[in-house]
Amino acid sequence: NKQIIFKGYIEGIPTESDMELKLGNKFKLKVPSEEEEEGCNGALVVKNLYLSCDPYMRGRMRHFFGSYIPPFVPGSVIEGFGVSKVVDSDNPNFKPGDFVTGMTGWEEYSLIKKPEQLRKIQPNDIPLSYYVGLLGMPGFTAYAGFHEVCAPKKGDYLFVSAASGAVGQLVGQLAKLHGCYVVGSAGTDQKVDLLKNKLGFDEAFNYKKETDLDAALKRFFPKGIDIYFDNVGGPMLDAALTNMRIHGRIAICGMVSEQSLSNPCGIYNMFNLISKRIRMQGFLQSDFLHLYPQFLEDVISYYKQGKIVYIEDMNEGLESAPAAFVGLYSGKNVGKQVICVARE
Ligand code: NDP
Repeated sequence: NKQIIFKGYIEGIPTESDMELKLGNKFKLKVPSEEEEEGCNGALVVKNLYLSCDPYMRGRMRHFFGSYIPPFVPGSVIEGFGVSKVVDSDNPNFKPGDFVTGMTGWEEYSLIKKPEQLRKIQPNDIPLSYYVGLLGMPGFTAYAGFHEVCAPKKGDYLFVSAASGAVGQLVGQLAKLHGCYVVGSAGTDQKVDLLKNKLGFDEAFNYKKETDLDAALKRFFPKGIDIYFDNVGGPMLDAALTNMRIHGRIAICGMVSEQSLSNPCGIYNMFNLISKRIRMQGFLQSDFLHLYPQFLEDVISYYKQGKIVYIEDMNEGLESAPAAFVGLYSGKNVGKQVICVARE
């Protein structure tokens, strides 16, 4: 059972050497009995097929500082969202052959002691890997954040950063379906091209080529921004604050530009919150889990009708996971970053 092990707490941007590939002990493809291993009542053994690389995982690489999710345990297998196939089950709700999605390990096979955290995937013609992206946690973040936090109205001017990524690409497309004017920022010209020509954004720009983010936003939003869906924090948030319209909304989804900094840069333009009566709200997708069934129904239907598209960046093999994860911090991923461990 090949595994990716988290070596120890880090500072700064993650590197591949923070993780290591290990050949674990021979893995019995059977749920152990209670005598063999504690807590195995109702457990599952799964074969991991697709693993998700997500920016929030960086937060788990630092010693606990009051986050919403506990840190990884040094020397243990990295945990993350995945799509897996049940191999053995001691649980009446799951049978061998079922496909499931939820928290699993960065390894070929995992023993899942709390299968109630997993969702069963109903067989359909959608690729299984989409359940860690478009139809998984990132897609749900876009759906819940856009509908529940942004208070969107038809005709609103919406800006989204990290726009071609897992969350951003769906935010922009949902906003277009809602009748908003949508501009996205991304870190390469290739991504800008995808935003404009594949994902249907009205405009997009490469923020790395802009010397003045404030001026860039003024160029794309001469009348100002109603909604800023913030995936990055830092200087882009600061520039967005000065370009918001009165009664604008800022959804604070993520801080990928600040996550690895021990001294995050300051935000200087907060007074705009007062002068323009802006509502700025941080959120966690997990606050809205009651909307999950509606999300699946809506997004599957949009996808099948061709109203939205989905861009996935698939790396092959468990060995490729550390480099792919590290790549999130230089924008190497084009679309949702997924690791294919096995096809079935
Ligand atoms: P992405 O697929 O967008 O991948 C991360 C992207 O961030 C990179 O491709 C890169 O794109 C961009 N990036 C990396 N470093 C920087 C930087 N220093 N400045 C600006 N952009 C940078 O990730 P996700 O879509 O999965 O996540 C997007 C955000 O949403 C993250 O901040 C994440 O933490 C957050 N999130 C929040 C959730 C919640 O419940 N609140 C749930 C899920 C995600 P580029 O080439 O454009 O720079």
